[in-house]
Amino acid sequence: MLPNTTTSRFAGRTVLVTGAAQGIGQATAERCASEGATVVVTDVDTEGGEETVATIEDDGGDAVFRELDVTDAEEFDAVVRAVAERHGLDVLVNNAGIAHPLENIEDTDDETFDRVLDVNVRGVWNGCRAALPVLKEQGEGAIVNVASLGGMIGLPRQGAYTLSKGAVLNFTRTVAAEAGPHGVRANAVCPGFVETAMGESFFAEADDPEKARERMERQYPLRRFGEPDEVAGYIAFLASEDAAYVSGHGLVVDGGYSIS
Ligand code: NAD
Repeated sequence: MLPNTTTSRFAGRTVLVTGAAQGIGQATAERCASEGATVVVTDVDTEGGEETVATIEDDGGDAVFRELDVTDAEEFDAVVRAVAERHGLDVLVNNAGIAHPLENIEDTDDETFDRVLDVNVRGVWNGCRAALPVLKEQGEGAIVNVASLGGMIGLPRQGAYTLSKGAVLNFTRTVAAEAGPHGVRANAVCPGFVETAMGESFFAEADDPEKARERMERQYPLRRFGEPDEVAGYIAFLASEDAAYVSGHGLVVDGGYSIS
């Protein structure tokens, strides 16, 4: 867990994070807990989710695990309702997402396309639709959607993924426009390559994964990929009162890749 260098921005607040069993979601859950939040860790991976909770508790934080497949609208509604009744809900981080094997558009089958859109797009839709009535009713709250640099620039052989993330980014603007008058903010983060299991999967198919990785790293001005904590820091920022006047924004976290 990162040291708590800021004040307790989330003291008394409840933050629900999807896909928090590992990677960026786990780092976000830990980061928000370290700043005083009660964190609702959700994922389809119950073992990983419980581990995230245990890590937070070992560090003196407060967290619970709820199994949640973001593609299931009824389940998402039920989890949000239960959390709102039990703890209140202040922040929703729609982080759960999947990648797909690198392949050209014409080689991508319907099953892959449907699965990627289901998790990455329907999952975010389900989350926003479940949480918005709660947040609007209380007249405050924040949603942070995890999009991707792939939602802003073209990436060969990631057709379904970039389509899904572009949708998440623009939908976030609509959520911001619709919910703003009710005191609710919505923002997105757009990470470049991040050192997680998903990140690693992009190189797995290369003939020489290590070489492919080094080649890619050299294209980043900072000459390295991002760490989950570095994305979590920006998610926490957007979810916090430090970003009280920021809404509808897509914050790029890519070590300068997109400007070089
Ligand atoms: P990851 O694969 O390490 O973790 C994703 C988590 O989501 C896993 O715990 C997984 O069990 C969970 N998940 C998958 N399907 C789910 C579902 N249907 N319901 C609930 N949980 C589900 O990935 P990550 O790199 O931490 O990615 C997190 C988010 O960041 C994703 O939305 C991803 O698209 C985005 N992102 C990642 C990168 C990167 O390079 N790693 C770059 C840009 C954006």
